[in-house]
Amino acid sequence: MLADRMAFLLNVDRVLYECSCSSTYPLCRLYYCRYCLALRCADCTQHEADVYFCSQCLQSHMAPEAKLHYMKCKKCFECPSCQSVLALRAVTTLPEESPKSTEKEPVTSATPTASATPTTPATPAKKYFLSCGNCYWTTKDAGYEEQELAVLYDSFFDTEQAVIKQLKEAYQVIALRDATEKTAKKSASQTNKRKTMAALGIREDSSSFLSSLSIGTRGMSALNRSKQLANISAVDALQSVMSVATSDVEALPDDYFTRPLDLSNVTTLDQRLRDVKNQPAATVQLKPLRKQLLIKKSVRCKKCDHSLCKPEFSTSNIKFKIQLLAQLQLPEVRIHPGYSLVAGKECEVVLSVSNPDQLSQCTFKLVADNDNQRSNCEITTPSDVEFSLEPKNDAFSLDDSIETDPEKERLLEYNHGSKIGIKCSVNVPGDLAGNAKVCVKLHHTPLLTSTDGSTVSEQQFPICIDLGSVQGF
Ligand SMILES: [Zn+2]
Ligand SMILES: [Zn+2]
Ligand SMILES: [Zn+2]
Ligand SMILES: [Zn+2]
Repeated sequence: MLADRMAFLLNVDRVLYECSCSSTYPLCRLYYCRYCLALRCADCTQHEADVYFCSQCLQSHMAPEAKLHYMKCKKCFECPSCQSVLALRAVTTLPEESPKSTEKEPVTSATPTASATPTTPATPAKKYFLSCGNCYWTTKDAGYEEQELAVLYDSFFDTEQAVIKQLKEAYQVIALRDATEKTAKKSASQTNKRKTMAALGIREDSSSFLSSLSIGTRGMSALNRSKQLANISAVDALQSVMSVATSDVEALPDDYFTRPLDLSNVTTLDQRLRDVKNQPAATVQLKPLRKQLLIKKSVRCKKCDHSLCKPEFSTSNIKFKIQLLAQLQLPEVRIHPGYSLVAGKECEVVLSVSNPDQLSQCTFKLVADNDNQRSNCEITTPSDVEFSLEPKNDAFSLDDSIETDPEKERLLEYNHGSKIGIKCSVNVPGDLAGNAKVCVKLHHTPLLTSTDGSTVSEQQFPICIDLGSVQGF
């Protein structure tokens, strides 16, 4: 029961605010542009990657460097078994000569004359391997011996990456050849046009002649380049890296179907799909996975090009320079749980409205919008009453505030200062199919002042509320 109630409270998709593009989204997924004075959703905004970084070592990378390394960190690895981060462990090993010297020790002590020859002490060498602190998987399980750091990292280097590099180069050749062919065709058609004009006796003016001449020169150089590239056939370029179909397949072992299956040696689907290129079937084939880079994203308004969200550049800083979230500007409307809807009856639903700002009061009106096409039930709200909310204060919200106006007290289910519950009645049709949906309009003046200093007038924000399923009689 508690789980159901929590699921209800955490379901943000029940109350959807209408964006300026008429799409509906939960308030937490919208931005409010202070320059256009409008809500902006993911489609109305432009997303840009500011910085690429590894969430483990917090090292930032520029875009070309990140692309060069296939958006993976060079130093951090994930456990292929449980996806935890692998830790680097060092072991101090003595060189191979050292055991021989210790064996010889008793002999040298027995013959003091032999001990006179100086024996250089063996210097211990540090070798490394990776280990998972969660499931205790180590790189030694995958057959990688302890190595020096550079050698160890090189051994994890994916051999497929060399093939991908070759493919990339091959496709670059093809793209370049296509582009030059297109330019050559264009310049050829322009030369033909000029010839036709000359044959007809039409004189070109100097500017157009010069421009066509320059195009012609560019076309010629492009033609020369295409001739050079023609030597490298696209098929030839790809031939070296192409997979070739073959009918010679290795036969399965005789005991393949009779051998008892040990599930502890078989990888799970998740483990296989994490390494898409290799898709290891057995646990011994698991290889450490390089950590995927994350990005810090900035968001711009498509209409006015101003930033709506801009994080700090430093990867260790989680703050934002600009953050115009709608959730911080508009009162949040939610459904208070504990109501039931009966088909063909008028039911009471409590809508809670909370003030997001910790410094200033906010006033609003909740107006029924029964003409909206998204609604299938009629709602009656106290449209003509303006409610005011105290600044957000978590300690204060524990106690009920005293409402001095008896009219407002009648309309309110509860008053927690910065959050109030407004009683609304919903008229559910008897033949309603599916969930009951109502629409309201929030009349509110956003907290932000306009950038040109002018005061922002009251705005209307259409809200679509999904009240859930309806009980029969
Ligand atoms: Zn804007
Ligand atoms: Zn939108
Ligand atoms: Zn890293
Ligand atoms: Zn692990």
